[in-house]
Amino acid sequence: MNCMGIRYGDEMIVVDAGMGFPEETPFGVDISIPNFDFLEEYRDDLTAIILTHGHEDHVGALAYILKKFNVPVYGSRFTLALAEKRLEEFRMLEDVLLHRVKANDVIDIGNFKIEFIHASHSLVDCFSLAIRTPIGTLIHTGDYKIDDTPVIGLPYDLKTLRRYGDEGVLALLADSTNATVPGRTPSEQAVIPAFREIFEETPGRLFVSTFSSSMHRLQIIFDLAHEYGRKVCVLGRSMVKNVEIAEDQGLLKIGQGTMVSMGDARALQDDAICYLATGSQGEARAALWNIATSTYKGLEIEKGDTVVLSARIIPGNEKSISRLIGHLYKRGANIIEEKRRLVHVSGHASQEDIKIMVETSRPKYLVPIHGEYRMLFRHKEYVKNHVAGYSDDNIVLIENGDVLELDEFGARVVDKHELHKTFIDEESMGEIEYDVVRERKKLAYGGAISLVVTIDKATHQIKGEPQITFQGVAGLDSTNGFASDARQAISEAIAEMKTAQIADKTVFKENLRIHLKRFVQKEIRTKPVIVTTIVEV
Ligand SMILES: [Zn+2]
Repeated sequence: MNCMGIRYGDEMIVVDAGMGFPEETPFGVDISIPNFDFLEEYRDDLTAIILTHGHEDHVGALAYILKKFNVPVYGSRFTLALAEKRLEEFRMLEDVLLHRVKANDVIDIGNFKIEFIHASHSLVDCFSLAIRTPIGTLIHTGDYKIDDTPVIGLPYDLKTLRRYGDEGVLALLADSTNATVPGRTPSEQAVIPAFREIFEETPGRLFVSTFSSSMHRLQIIFDLAHEYGRKVCVLGRSMVKNVEIAEDQGLLKIGQGTMVSMGDARALQDDAICYLATGSQGEARAALWNIATSTYKGLEIEKGDTVVLSARIIPGNEKSISRLIGHLYKRGANIIEEKRRLVHVSGHASQEDIKIMVETSRPKYLVPIHGEYRMLFRHKEYVKNHVAGYSDDNIVLIENGDVLELDEFGARVVDKHELHKTFIDEESMGEIEYDVVRERKKLAYGGAISLVVTIDKATHQIKGEPQITFQGVAGLDSTNGFASDARQAISEAIAEMKTAQIADKTVFKENLRIHLKRFVQKEIRTKPVIVTTIVEV
């Protein structure tokens, strides 16, 4: 959920607007986005959204932020092509202004002069940003690694970065995702030997699952497939879409006749086909899951198939990946994972890459960003201990919601916004209020008890007995007398109320809730959600 506002005077730009995958998944929300309310007070100051690259955690919330603040968007050709597909789904494409920029383009946005610096990452066409302001230059790394030999495109543009370092950099805002990992992050090319062996050794059908955005990886597979006489069949919506866009833009080079449809693929010999599928995280509904569980139309894993999981395990996905692997084994497949062979490398800077970044840009202040607090902290510790001139005085740790102020006196956190996540319903793509999810959590943990009281509209007298029902409350069932005891307790409480207290519906309802809550707390130890309803007749 990367999203950062940078403000000078009365002008503000926003860098990235990403989506995340919240831990609230059991409560029916699969996607979260930043709560953009914090931008409301700067509505008149907002001038642009700058995108560093096309990963979902950087652009996934673009439609939602544009709905609230329709300002021009700047990004690379590939990043915007991915964003466009999304905006199309929201029918917003007509109403937004997208500016395509290339590496080393410089744009003037009021007080900000921004140069786009070519960055290497697992995706392609990515940028770090050099943002000149009247008080100094900020470098925002975006996601990066220092890859000297990427498969697609050029190495990280250290030359431009050094130019800014020579001029003087006020602050470096730098990716911390891999700040706990020693050494250099291996180049995207590092997986070629293992894949070459796999293509050489595999006798039967070959399935490779990777992120649909891992462009260097896809290129390697297309190249080796061509070399070893296998056709490639692409499976999964996002994989098909990304391959199409990347090929269109000349980023992905696919030999003529290499790609085949599923119909054609099935007619081929087992050793002449390679399926490229989404679902490396064990996502239900993704192509690989469906193929592994016989729910994919026309294709399933069979004995003798080889499946390569060419991706890291994203924390939180361990169980679903484990289940996926179980299904694959049950069907007799041979599985190759990161643990067994070098079939995956990270797209983020490890400690030695971080050192190169800091030494090249030589910022006055270092601000670790992107990552959990543990990673930001280790980023700081590593630089303190391994790069001369850095200490607690010039490395600033910030958290979500912090407002960092930089001026001639220094860098300090001056304010903190409380930022709740905004949840998205995957079916409707509509926003779900934070309170709704909080309520679902309460329901999930404690169940619900419902009280219905009927009163006479004219006389404010109770009609009949109060009704008590409950659902999912531990310790209660229809035979243990809870409902009748509660009914009695509520009836007694009502008998003691004055007519005026009953006539005011809001007061009456709240009183009922409090009485029932007290009774419940006395009887059982859990905290169910209490719902009171007053029916007037
Ligand atoms: Zn990324």
